[in-house]
Amino acid sequence: MKYHFQLLLLVIVFKVTPVLAGDTLPIHTPSQLLSEILKYRSLSGHEKSVGTFLLNKSLEMGLNVHLFNDSDSSFNFSASLYPLEEQKPNIVFLSHLDVVSAVDSAEWLHPPFSGAIVHDTVWGRGCLDMKGIGLMQLEAVASYVNEAKQKSLPYNFTVLFVSGEESGGTLGAKLITEHNLPLLNTSLVIGEGGAGLKNVLPSKPEQEVFFLSIIEKKSLWLKLSVRQKTHGHSSLPASTSANSILIKSIDRITTERPIIIFNKTTKNMFRQLGELNGGVQGFVLKHINSWLLRPFRRKILKREPLLLTEVTNTIQLTNYSNPNGPPNVIPGVATSYFDCRLVPTVTTKKFLKKLKRRIHNHKVDIDIIDQSPDEKASKPNEQFNAIEAGLKKAYPGCAVLPVLFPATTDNSYFRSNGIKAFGLLPLELNQTLIESVHSANECVPVNTVNKGIEAYKMIIRELINQENTKMKK
Ligand SMILES: [Zn+2]
Repeated sequence: MKYHFQLLLLVIVFKVTPVLAGDTLPIHTPSQLLSEILKYRSLSGHEKSVGTFLLNKSLEMGLNVHLFNDSDSSFNFSASLYPLEEQKPNIVFLSHLDVVSAVDSAEWLHPPFSGAIVHDTVWGRGCLDMKGIGLMQLEAVASYVNEAKQKSLPYNFTVLFVSGEESGGTLGAKLITEHNLPLLNTSLVIGEGGAGLKNVLPSKPEQEVFFLSIIEKKSLWLKLSVRQKTHGHSSLPASTSANSILIKSIDRITTERPIIIFNKTTKNMFRQLGELNGGVQGFVLKHINSWLLRPFRRKILKREPLLLTEVTNTIQLTNYSNPNGPPNVIPGVATSYFDCRLVPTVTTKKFLKKLKRRIHNHKVDIDIIDQSPDEKASKPNEQFNAIEAGLKKAYPGCAVLPVLFPATTDNSYFRSNGIKAFGLLPLELNQTLIESVHSANECVPVNTVNKGIEAYKMIIRELINQENTKMKK
């Protein structure tokens, strides 16, 4: 009896013991490989070691690699079925090696760079954004190595791993699109984007919907600063200080009611969402932009914050600072940073003009820190249909919608160069998993990793079949 109990205990303990950094287990499964790459602290600017590891893995998998940039802060390479020099039309899966920082705090159930596998879930910074996705793309492409040797496939399939996405893409996707587009010979980019979600349609919560992004909001990072000389000592309150001016300005711009702006993509998205949902609520969604519903649309959209961000510019205060000083000195400088996301029809110039008018104080300086390039929407084409067909094979009964992505990714560099790019995570995600991105406890279930690989494989298969059928005609 006692023996059995100990055995049971051993089994339980064994099952829940995480695989921690330093334990190098032989790699048998994609999730174990993911666990390995999660152990690299590849914050933006420090991608080389994880990149080198993945490059060697790609070679072991039988893929052809091309190293574009080989410095510590800019490590970019591709792994493809055929050498890029063959110049086959190329389907490029775009992935980034860098992750945002994570503080190893009590908030994390398992340390962020441990790559722990516990209860059939892989834990760590980058599980979803985006090492886990890059790994799924790599496994899917590598599964076609033998087939590509036996016959000439109509496309080359490539995973492009780049640096610095989280810091604006300058040392990764931007560099590649400036110097290497001829070699890549890209027919289509499949990058980061929307996943499969349930509970989207009010009348059909069980219906899974994949949001395939065809355009993104433009990111615009601003610095607002004020220099104001005062008498210094805070025992005599100053009527206008750098802080009072800046705080008033921040209040003015963040309390403004955002204007609702529809474009072609969002109009189409709401129409399709309405059709999928059906009934009265479907009718409302479908006609949300009609004159009939205009007086009510803000109220309706406010109930769905995610849908509201699709049609409004957002302004988020991300930092506020004064130079270091004792508490009894009035600072002469105040600085704040904003992350703004603009709907595609609003230009930076137009947005800044409005912002200045709203602030209405010449003492506030506005500087652009960074912005994503202007891009045109990648209209759904037959490749989009092939991706949709692949997704439907992997997730029977799912719906696929072309959408505006409310964030900004490296896809925008390709779109701004006239290359079609669709954004997609072919995974079923729930609210908890989505909220873990850029936050504590980023994780991905082992099952989801395996299904993601299958979905990418099916997308590749559909793209091949579509081209082969076309050639036969
Ligand atoms: Zn990302």
